[in-house]
Amino acid sequence: DKLISQIAAGEVIERPSAVVKELLENSVDAGALAIEIRLEEGGCQRIVISDDGQGIPPKELALAVKRHATSKIASLEDLESVLTMGFRGEALASIASVSKLSITTKTIADDHAWKLTHPSHEIMPAAGAQGCRIDVEDLFYNTPARRKFLKSTATELGHCVEAIKRVALANPQIGFAVWHNGKPLYRWLIGSLETRANEILGAEFQAAQLAVDASSEIISLSGFIGAPTASRARADQQFIFVNQRFVKDKLINHAIRSAYQDVLHGDRQPILVLCLNILPELVDVNVHPAKIEVRFRDSRAVHQFIYHTVKDRLAHGAG
Ligand code: ADP
Ligand code: MG
Repeated sequence: DKLISQIAAGEVIERPSAVVKELLENSVDAGALAIEIRLEEGGCQRIVISDDGQGIPPKELALAVKRHATSKIASLEDLESVLTMGFRGEALASIASVSKLSITTKTIADDHAWKLTHPSHEIMPAAGAQGCRIDVEDLFYNTPARRKFLKSTATELGHCVEAIKRVALANPQIGFAVWHNGKPLYRWLIGSLETRANEILGAEFQAAQLAVDASSEIISLSGFIGAPTASRARADQQFIFVNQRFVKDKLINHAIRSAYQDVLHGDRQPILVLCLNILPELVDVNVHPAKIEVRFRDSRAVHQFIYHTVKDRLAHGAG
């Protein structure tokens, strides 16, 4: 079982940023309003994520690091309409199998916090506020081959920051504080998508944005796209979310690119922060464990909706 966990971990937990992504998604699922992220050596040495969410009840704590332990699916039908970010019950187990990990957590019903330490698997009373604090130390200490694949601190930190920005843009209703090697890196206060995007994408975004907001009964698209006059964006300035999940999706990209081409007659890489929301039963987000791709029931309709929304906005904004 330990081996299976480590193999499974290899698929999902490739590097520190994957740990950051999974832990942040759990904090979002737990209803956190404030999340603090502390990284050491690009996350290779240590990743500590604290949130003020609902916490884990003591009787569920030992289960949280077991494979397929998820509190988020009660039935098979639930799989059809998963709204929370995580639903596989594998992330914590995978992370625990390749690191030294502790979980300190308190729910509103507990008088004090509890701390689970892995791999010793002790559970002890502890000090701590409501929420969850997960401390991941020495990633891949027991899988040296994988550890060798880690890149420089700067590179791994860059990947972690990218993962954090994705979650932060998808959740402007949550405040974030990010630290690296004891120094503050970012602080993003609770705000609107616009203020969050301004903070994360900076002046270029502020100068170039066109607001998008369109909806039908089953689908909506909102956010900001680069104006026709805007300069070419870097690839890491394109953020697209489907039901609050960051995606890189060929169909969506094609619809957007076509709209830009048809209005501007040139290939462009605009700055984008777009949130697509669609009825959960019309989208399958479970295509890949890393969950960066999606599959739509009616991909043609989705393509058309995005294409026309972006095209109309560009034509209007340019005129
Ligand atoms: P999943 O998110 O797919 O359910 P995980 O392995 O990521 O599986 O987490 C296992 C379980 O641990 C979750 O279902 C949840 O009940 C609990 N959990 C993990 N992180 C948190 C957190 N930050 N706050 C509250 N509960 C959490
Ligand atoms: Mg999860």
